[in-house]
Amino acid sequence: TAPLSDAAAAFDVRPTDAPTPVEQREALLAAPKFGTVFTDHMARISWTAEGGWSDRRVEKYGPLQLDPAAAVLHYGQEVFEGLKAYRHADGSVWTFRPEKNAARFAASAHRLALPQLSTEDFLGSLEALVRTDLDWVPSGEEMSLYLRPFMYASEVFLGVRASQAVEYLVIASPTGPYFSKGVNPVSIWVAQDFHRAGAGGTGAAKCGGNYAASLLPQQEAADKGCDQVAFLDASTNTAFEELGGMNLFVVGADRTVSTPALTGSILEGVTRGSILELVTARGYDVQERTITLAEVRQGLEDGSIVELFACGTAAVLTPIGRLAGEGFDLTVGDGASGELTMSVRGELTDIQNGKRPDTHGWMYRL
Ligand code: PMP
Repeated sequence: TAPLSDAAAAFDVRPTDAPTPVEQREALLAAPKFGTVFTDHMARISWTAEGGWSDRRVEKYGPLQLDPAAAVLHYGQEVFEGLKAYRHADGSVWTFRPEKNAARFAASAHRLALPQLSTEDFLGSLEALVRTDLDWVPSGEEMSLYLRPFMYASEVFLGVRASQAVEYLVIASPTGPYFSKGVNPVSIWVAQDFHRAGAGGTGAAKCGGNYAASLLPQQEAADKGCDQVAFLDASTNTAFEELGGMNLFVVGADRTVSTPALTGSILEGVTRGSILELVTARGYDVQERTITLAEVRQGLEDGSIVELFACGTAAVLTPIGRLAGEGFDLTVGDGASGELTMSVRGELTDIQNGKRPDTHGWMYRL
């Protein structure tokens, strides 16, 4: 292993007195069910308005003590991040562009009137936790350790104002392939009665409330027989924004690759930004712009749109095989996984897994 960075060394490691037995850990790592299994430790920093950030530590994973009047339980002042640690063939462990997550975390915190955590502390907390729980990073095709940094208002106070006490934590969950039977195209329901975010709202922040707002539309999508929901903009109800937890791309027959522009109500996905760079390098005409539902319906009908895909950390690139909504139900191409989608997916996962040279300098060793 490489020497610990100063940022990670700032964390006091207090090892658990009851680590998971090796056989049990190995059984859990063999077939992890996303988001249900956690490593032995969590990283943590506390904050108060008077004292700032203090007590950087790695401690035993376990339940938090929360006063019933803790502000987060009432007003939802909370932000989070999501990224993965990958084990390469030589055993080394890496994350993908974590400074992007650090910057987005700070931007989300700003929007929710939470304190800023420095990039140094964000990266240091990931490194300190992953080093402590290194044996929990799985190896194998599409296996990773999902890292979930989050911050919440812990002040015991029912007044509606920014909390004077905050807890920052990182927990980690081993995960297997998102698609257990190989990559399969998903179906999308376009919500026309619900929106995820509005102008000036919190759509560009990764805060829990956005996901709470997406659950009912997601249930509606499921009731309509679709896998995921896509949202339109709240102002005109005509332009695509994103899915509940992924960004959206459109591939034209004329070698254009388009994605909705960052309007302030869309999350700026790290995967989205990386794909924009990869397809630009391949010579595609790349456009961040307004993409209307009407033009996508037309393009799918006349064949000028050949692929749709969704993207995010969890599923990387996910082909979309069907787009449905009130009054329409369209197949994308022949309904199978798109060629560009799968090719870019392979390129990105190869970089993440260390199977292809990291010419962009995207990988960060933990
Ligand atoms: N949009 C939303 C609403 C998301 O929750 C996510 C997942 N973080 C994304 C897009 C994709 O972002 P990323 O590529 O950084 O995972």
